[in-house]
Amino acid sequence: METRLRGVGVSHGMAIGEVRHIGTAVLEPPTREVAADEAPREAERARRAAEAVAADLRARGTLAGGQAQAVLEAQAMMAVDPELLADVDRRIGAGSSAEGAVHDAMAAYRELLAGAGEYLAARVADLDDVRNRVVARLMGVPIPGVPDSDEPYVLVARDLAPADTALLDPSLVLGFVTEEGGPTSHSAILARALGVPAVVALPGALRLAEGTVVAVDGSGGEVLVNPSARERASLARRAREREAATRTASGPGATRDGHKVPLMANIGTPADVAAAVEAGAEGVGLFRTEFLFLHGGQSPPGEDEQRAAYRQVLEAFPEGRVVVRVLDAGADKPLPFLPRAHDEPNPALGVRGLRALLEHPGVLAVQLRALAAAARELPVALDVMAPMVADQADARAFVDACRAAGLSARAGAMVEVPAAALRARSLLQEVEFLSVGTNDLAQYAFAADRQLGVVSRLHDPWQPALLDLVAMAAEAAKAEAKSCGVCGEAAADPLLACVLTGLGVTSLSMAASALPGVRAALAEHTLAQCERAAAAARAAESAEAARAAAEAVLASG
Ligand code: PEP
Ligand code: MG
Repeated sequence: METRLRGVGVSHGMAIGEVRHIGTAVLEPPTREVAADEAPREAERARRAAEAVAADLRARGTLAGGQAQAVLEAQAMMAVDPELLADVDRRIGAGSSAEGAVHDAMAAYRELLAGAGEYLAARVADLDDVRNRVVARLMGVPIPGVPDSDEPYVLVARDLAPADTALLDPSLVLGFVTEEGGPTSHSAILARALGVPAVVALPGALRLAEGTVVAVDGSGGEVLVNPSARERASLARRAREREAATRTASGPGATRDGHKVPLMANIGTPADVAAAVEAGAEGVGLFRTEFLFLHGGQSPPGEDEQRAAYRQVLEAFPEGRVVVRVLDAGADKPLPFLPRAHDEPNPALGVRGLRALLEHPGVLAVQLRALAAAARELPVALDVMAPMVADQADARAFVDACRAAGLSARAGAMVEVPAAALRARSLLQEVEFLSVGTNDLAQYAFAADRQLGVVSRLHDPWQPALLDLVAMAAEAAKAEAKSCGVCGEAAADPLLACVLTGLGVTSLSMAASALPGVRAALAEHTLAQCERAAAAARAAESAEAARAAAEAVLASG
């Protein structure tokens, strides 16, 4: 019988295939007491296993290359983290076996990560994978891993670990479904990098029997279990049509009647640039620079180090536009060199984003100076924007900081706080452009924590209230003859991209893998159709109804 399950769509497209599970169950080591005189040998055994796993992860990284390599190297560092190994030694000294000590020390570390905000919590799956690898090596049992299949399949897991996914044969993976994870988990990042549809946070995913046929709708976030033959044929036909359209569309983003909508890429590190160029990005619409800072330890990266990283990105788009977002720290991305001066019972409502930078103006000044230096002598159009701008005073403070750093780039504001959308014209008296961050805008508009699975319904970017706020920002920009892009996840949904265009949004920025689908969808519809679809979506009373209404308008030609 057909069943419909709902999760969160994080990588667009449709896949139909049989379920194959990836083994991620935690290995439970047997309890064994170790005598005091055996402890040094046991500690040596644990250290060697950790080092062997780290070396194996690094080797896998070298094989995989690209973004996966950075992730695997980070995992290798987790395996031989000195504090973790010291904890393992302590536990062995107290009578634990090497297996037991590694298992328990990692469990303690896991607790810490799980409670430390979205970015770090998303690394829990990486840590579980490291633990399984070290414990399996110590126990002499095989490491749980990717399915052994010659036929294409839909990969199902609790959450995916990069060490396994890096070695997946992409030609066999039709899509991902995970029980846990969120839009920033590795499952999501890797699915987007591979360009396969993915649904995460799907309750019941682990109960799907091996071999069951499922249809994964990475756009709508639905998984259809045991679809009927008719349903399968119709889904497959739609997927084929979309794929054919995607292959044929190329060049700059535009509607069928030639209304230009520049299509840009969201990147996190210079390593993401190659995929963006390959996918035909017309520039970078969001460079999330915090990735440079998150690995830096106790102090921010210096001006020279930052300049070199920014230059790598700017050089890749000699004719294009690159929008760099200054450091977005605080809340779920705490940084040791931006200490909290206040007690924050609700960090998401506290000193984060631009607020944190204005409290630490030296960090902002170094970043802006590095950007100015990187852009000097390059023909690229550099834009710099601030996250979490709430009002005109914020916008002015940011523009002043840019000028004080000698930056000639255009300065812009992200619209992530509902107040910024409501008073967009006021912000535009100070800044040159707006860029709507729909992820945070939804979080604050719906008072729904973006890290919390139980409220994910409210994070559906088709929510009409979110569309209303985007429309307000876009209308204000039009009235001021300035631009208003969207760089949140909403831009990556091909259908929604048409609606955003109809709302008056002037550019769209997304993960590189989403660009072809969005380009194709825009090329199929006229601006007038997009406008009608936008009006229909805004007139709806729910996210589902908004999507259905827009789909009906766009399908009617
Ligand atoms: C957003 O909030 O929509 C956004 C693009 O920023 P981030 O996802 O990095 O918070
Ligand atoms: Mg944001």
